[in-house]
Amino acid sequence: MTHLPGGAAPAGARNDLTVLTVPAFKDNYLWLIHDGVHAAAVDPGDSGPILAALAAHGLALTAILLTHHHADHIGGVPELLARFPVPVYGPGNDGIDVVTHRLGEGARVTVPRLDLELDVLEVPGHTLGHIAYVRRTPGLHWLFCGDTLFAGGCVRLFEGTPAQMAASLEKLAALPEDTEVYCAHEYTLSNLRFAQAVDADNAALQLRVRDESAKRAAGLPTVPSSIGLERSTNPFLRYQEPAIAAALVAAGRLHAGAAPVETFAALREWKNVY
Ligand SMILES: [Zn+2]
Repeated sequence: MTHLPGGAAPAGARNDLTVLTVPAFKDNYLWLIHDGVHAAAVDPGDSGPILAALAAHGLALTAILLTHHHADHIGGVPELLARFPVPVYGPGNDGIDVVTHRLGEGARVTVPRLDLELDVLEVPGHTLGHIAYVRRTPGLHWLFCGDTLFAGGCVRLFEGTPAQMAASLEKLAALPEDTEVYCAHEYTLSNLRFAQAVDADNAALQLRVRDESAKRAAGLPTVPSSIGLERSTNPFLRYQEPAIAAALVAAGRLHAGAAPVETFAALREWKNVY
């Protein structure tokens, strides 16, 4: 399945880049950003599907971009490097030996051969060194956020604190609302079932459940979503809404008058066992 970005690009900016969705494992999405000739792979956890997609589309790999150290995001890198000796961009502080270009907050990547610039955000929480990549070309806003923000939800906190993850999600939520959100897993319907439990009167959420259920019934991905859709329907971006704290209090999972970060932590803990 290909996704063609919409919107007009200013003179000089390329709008001929496509993001190719490459399903892998049980529910991962790997991404290939390409111009029909050259491609950059984002979080290639498995080399097989990436090599097959490159061959099917006649693409040469020119870069690898990594968000964090988990095997389902980096596992395919050695085999890809054996075929394509390309630079590997990734977090400077997440323990990935294979990274050749170590990145932190505010870094800018110029992806070789694609004339694509991506800005780096540090988004600790799932892992301590996790980064995200943002394309800020006017009219062509993309976010590759690995395992941080998911469509309709957020990831488990393996290394960071609730306060770190809440701050990371707020950083992502501040991006333009038309930013396309390329997250790494198809967890959307499960996330939205939980969202309905904690945000029952949200009309935008009900519409989203209908739309995303139809996509899955047709065998289509629900990713990418958008920052605007996440802001209006994702409880982990809406945890400061009084209705969400009230639902947690009613479920016996939060005390009345709790601080926002306590609300966020209680929300994440409930999702862990939901
Ligand atoms: Zn992960």
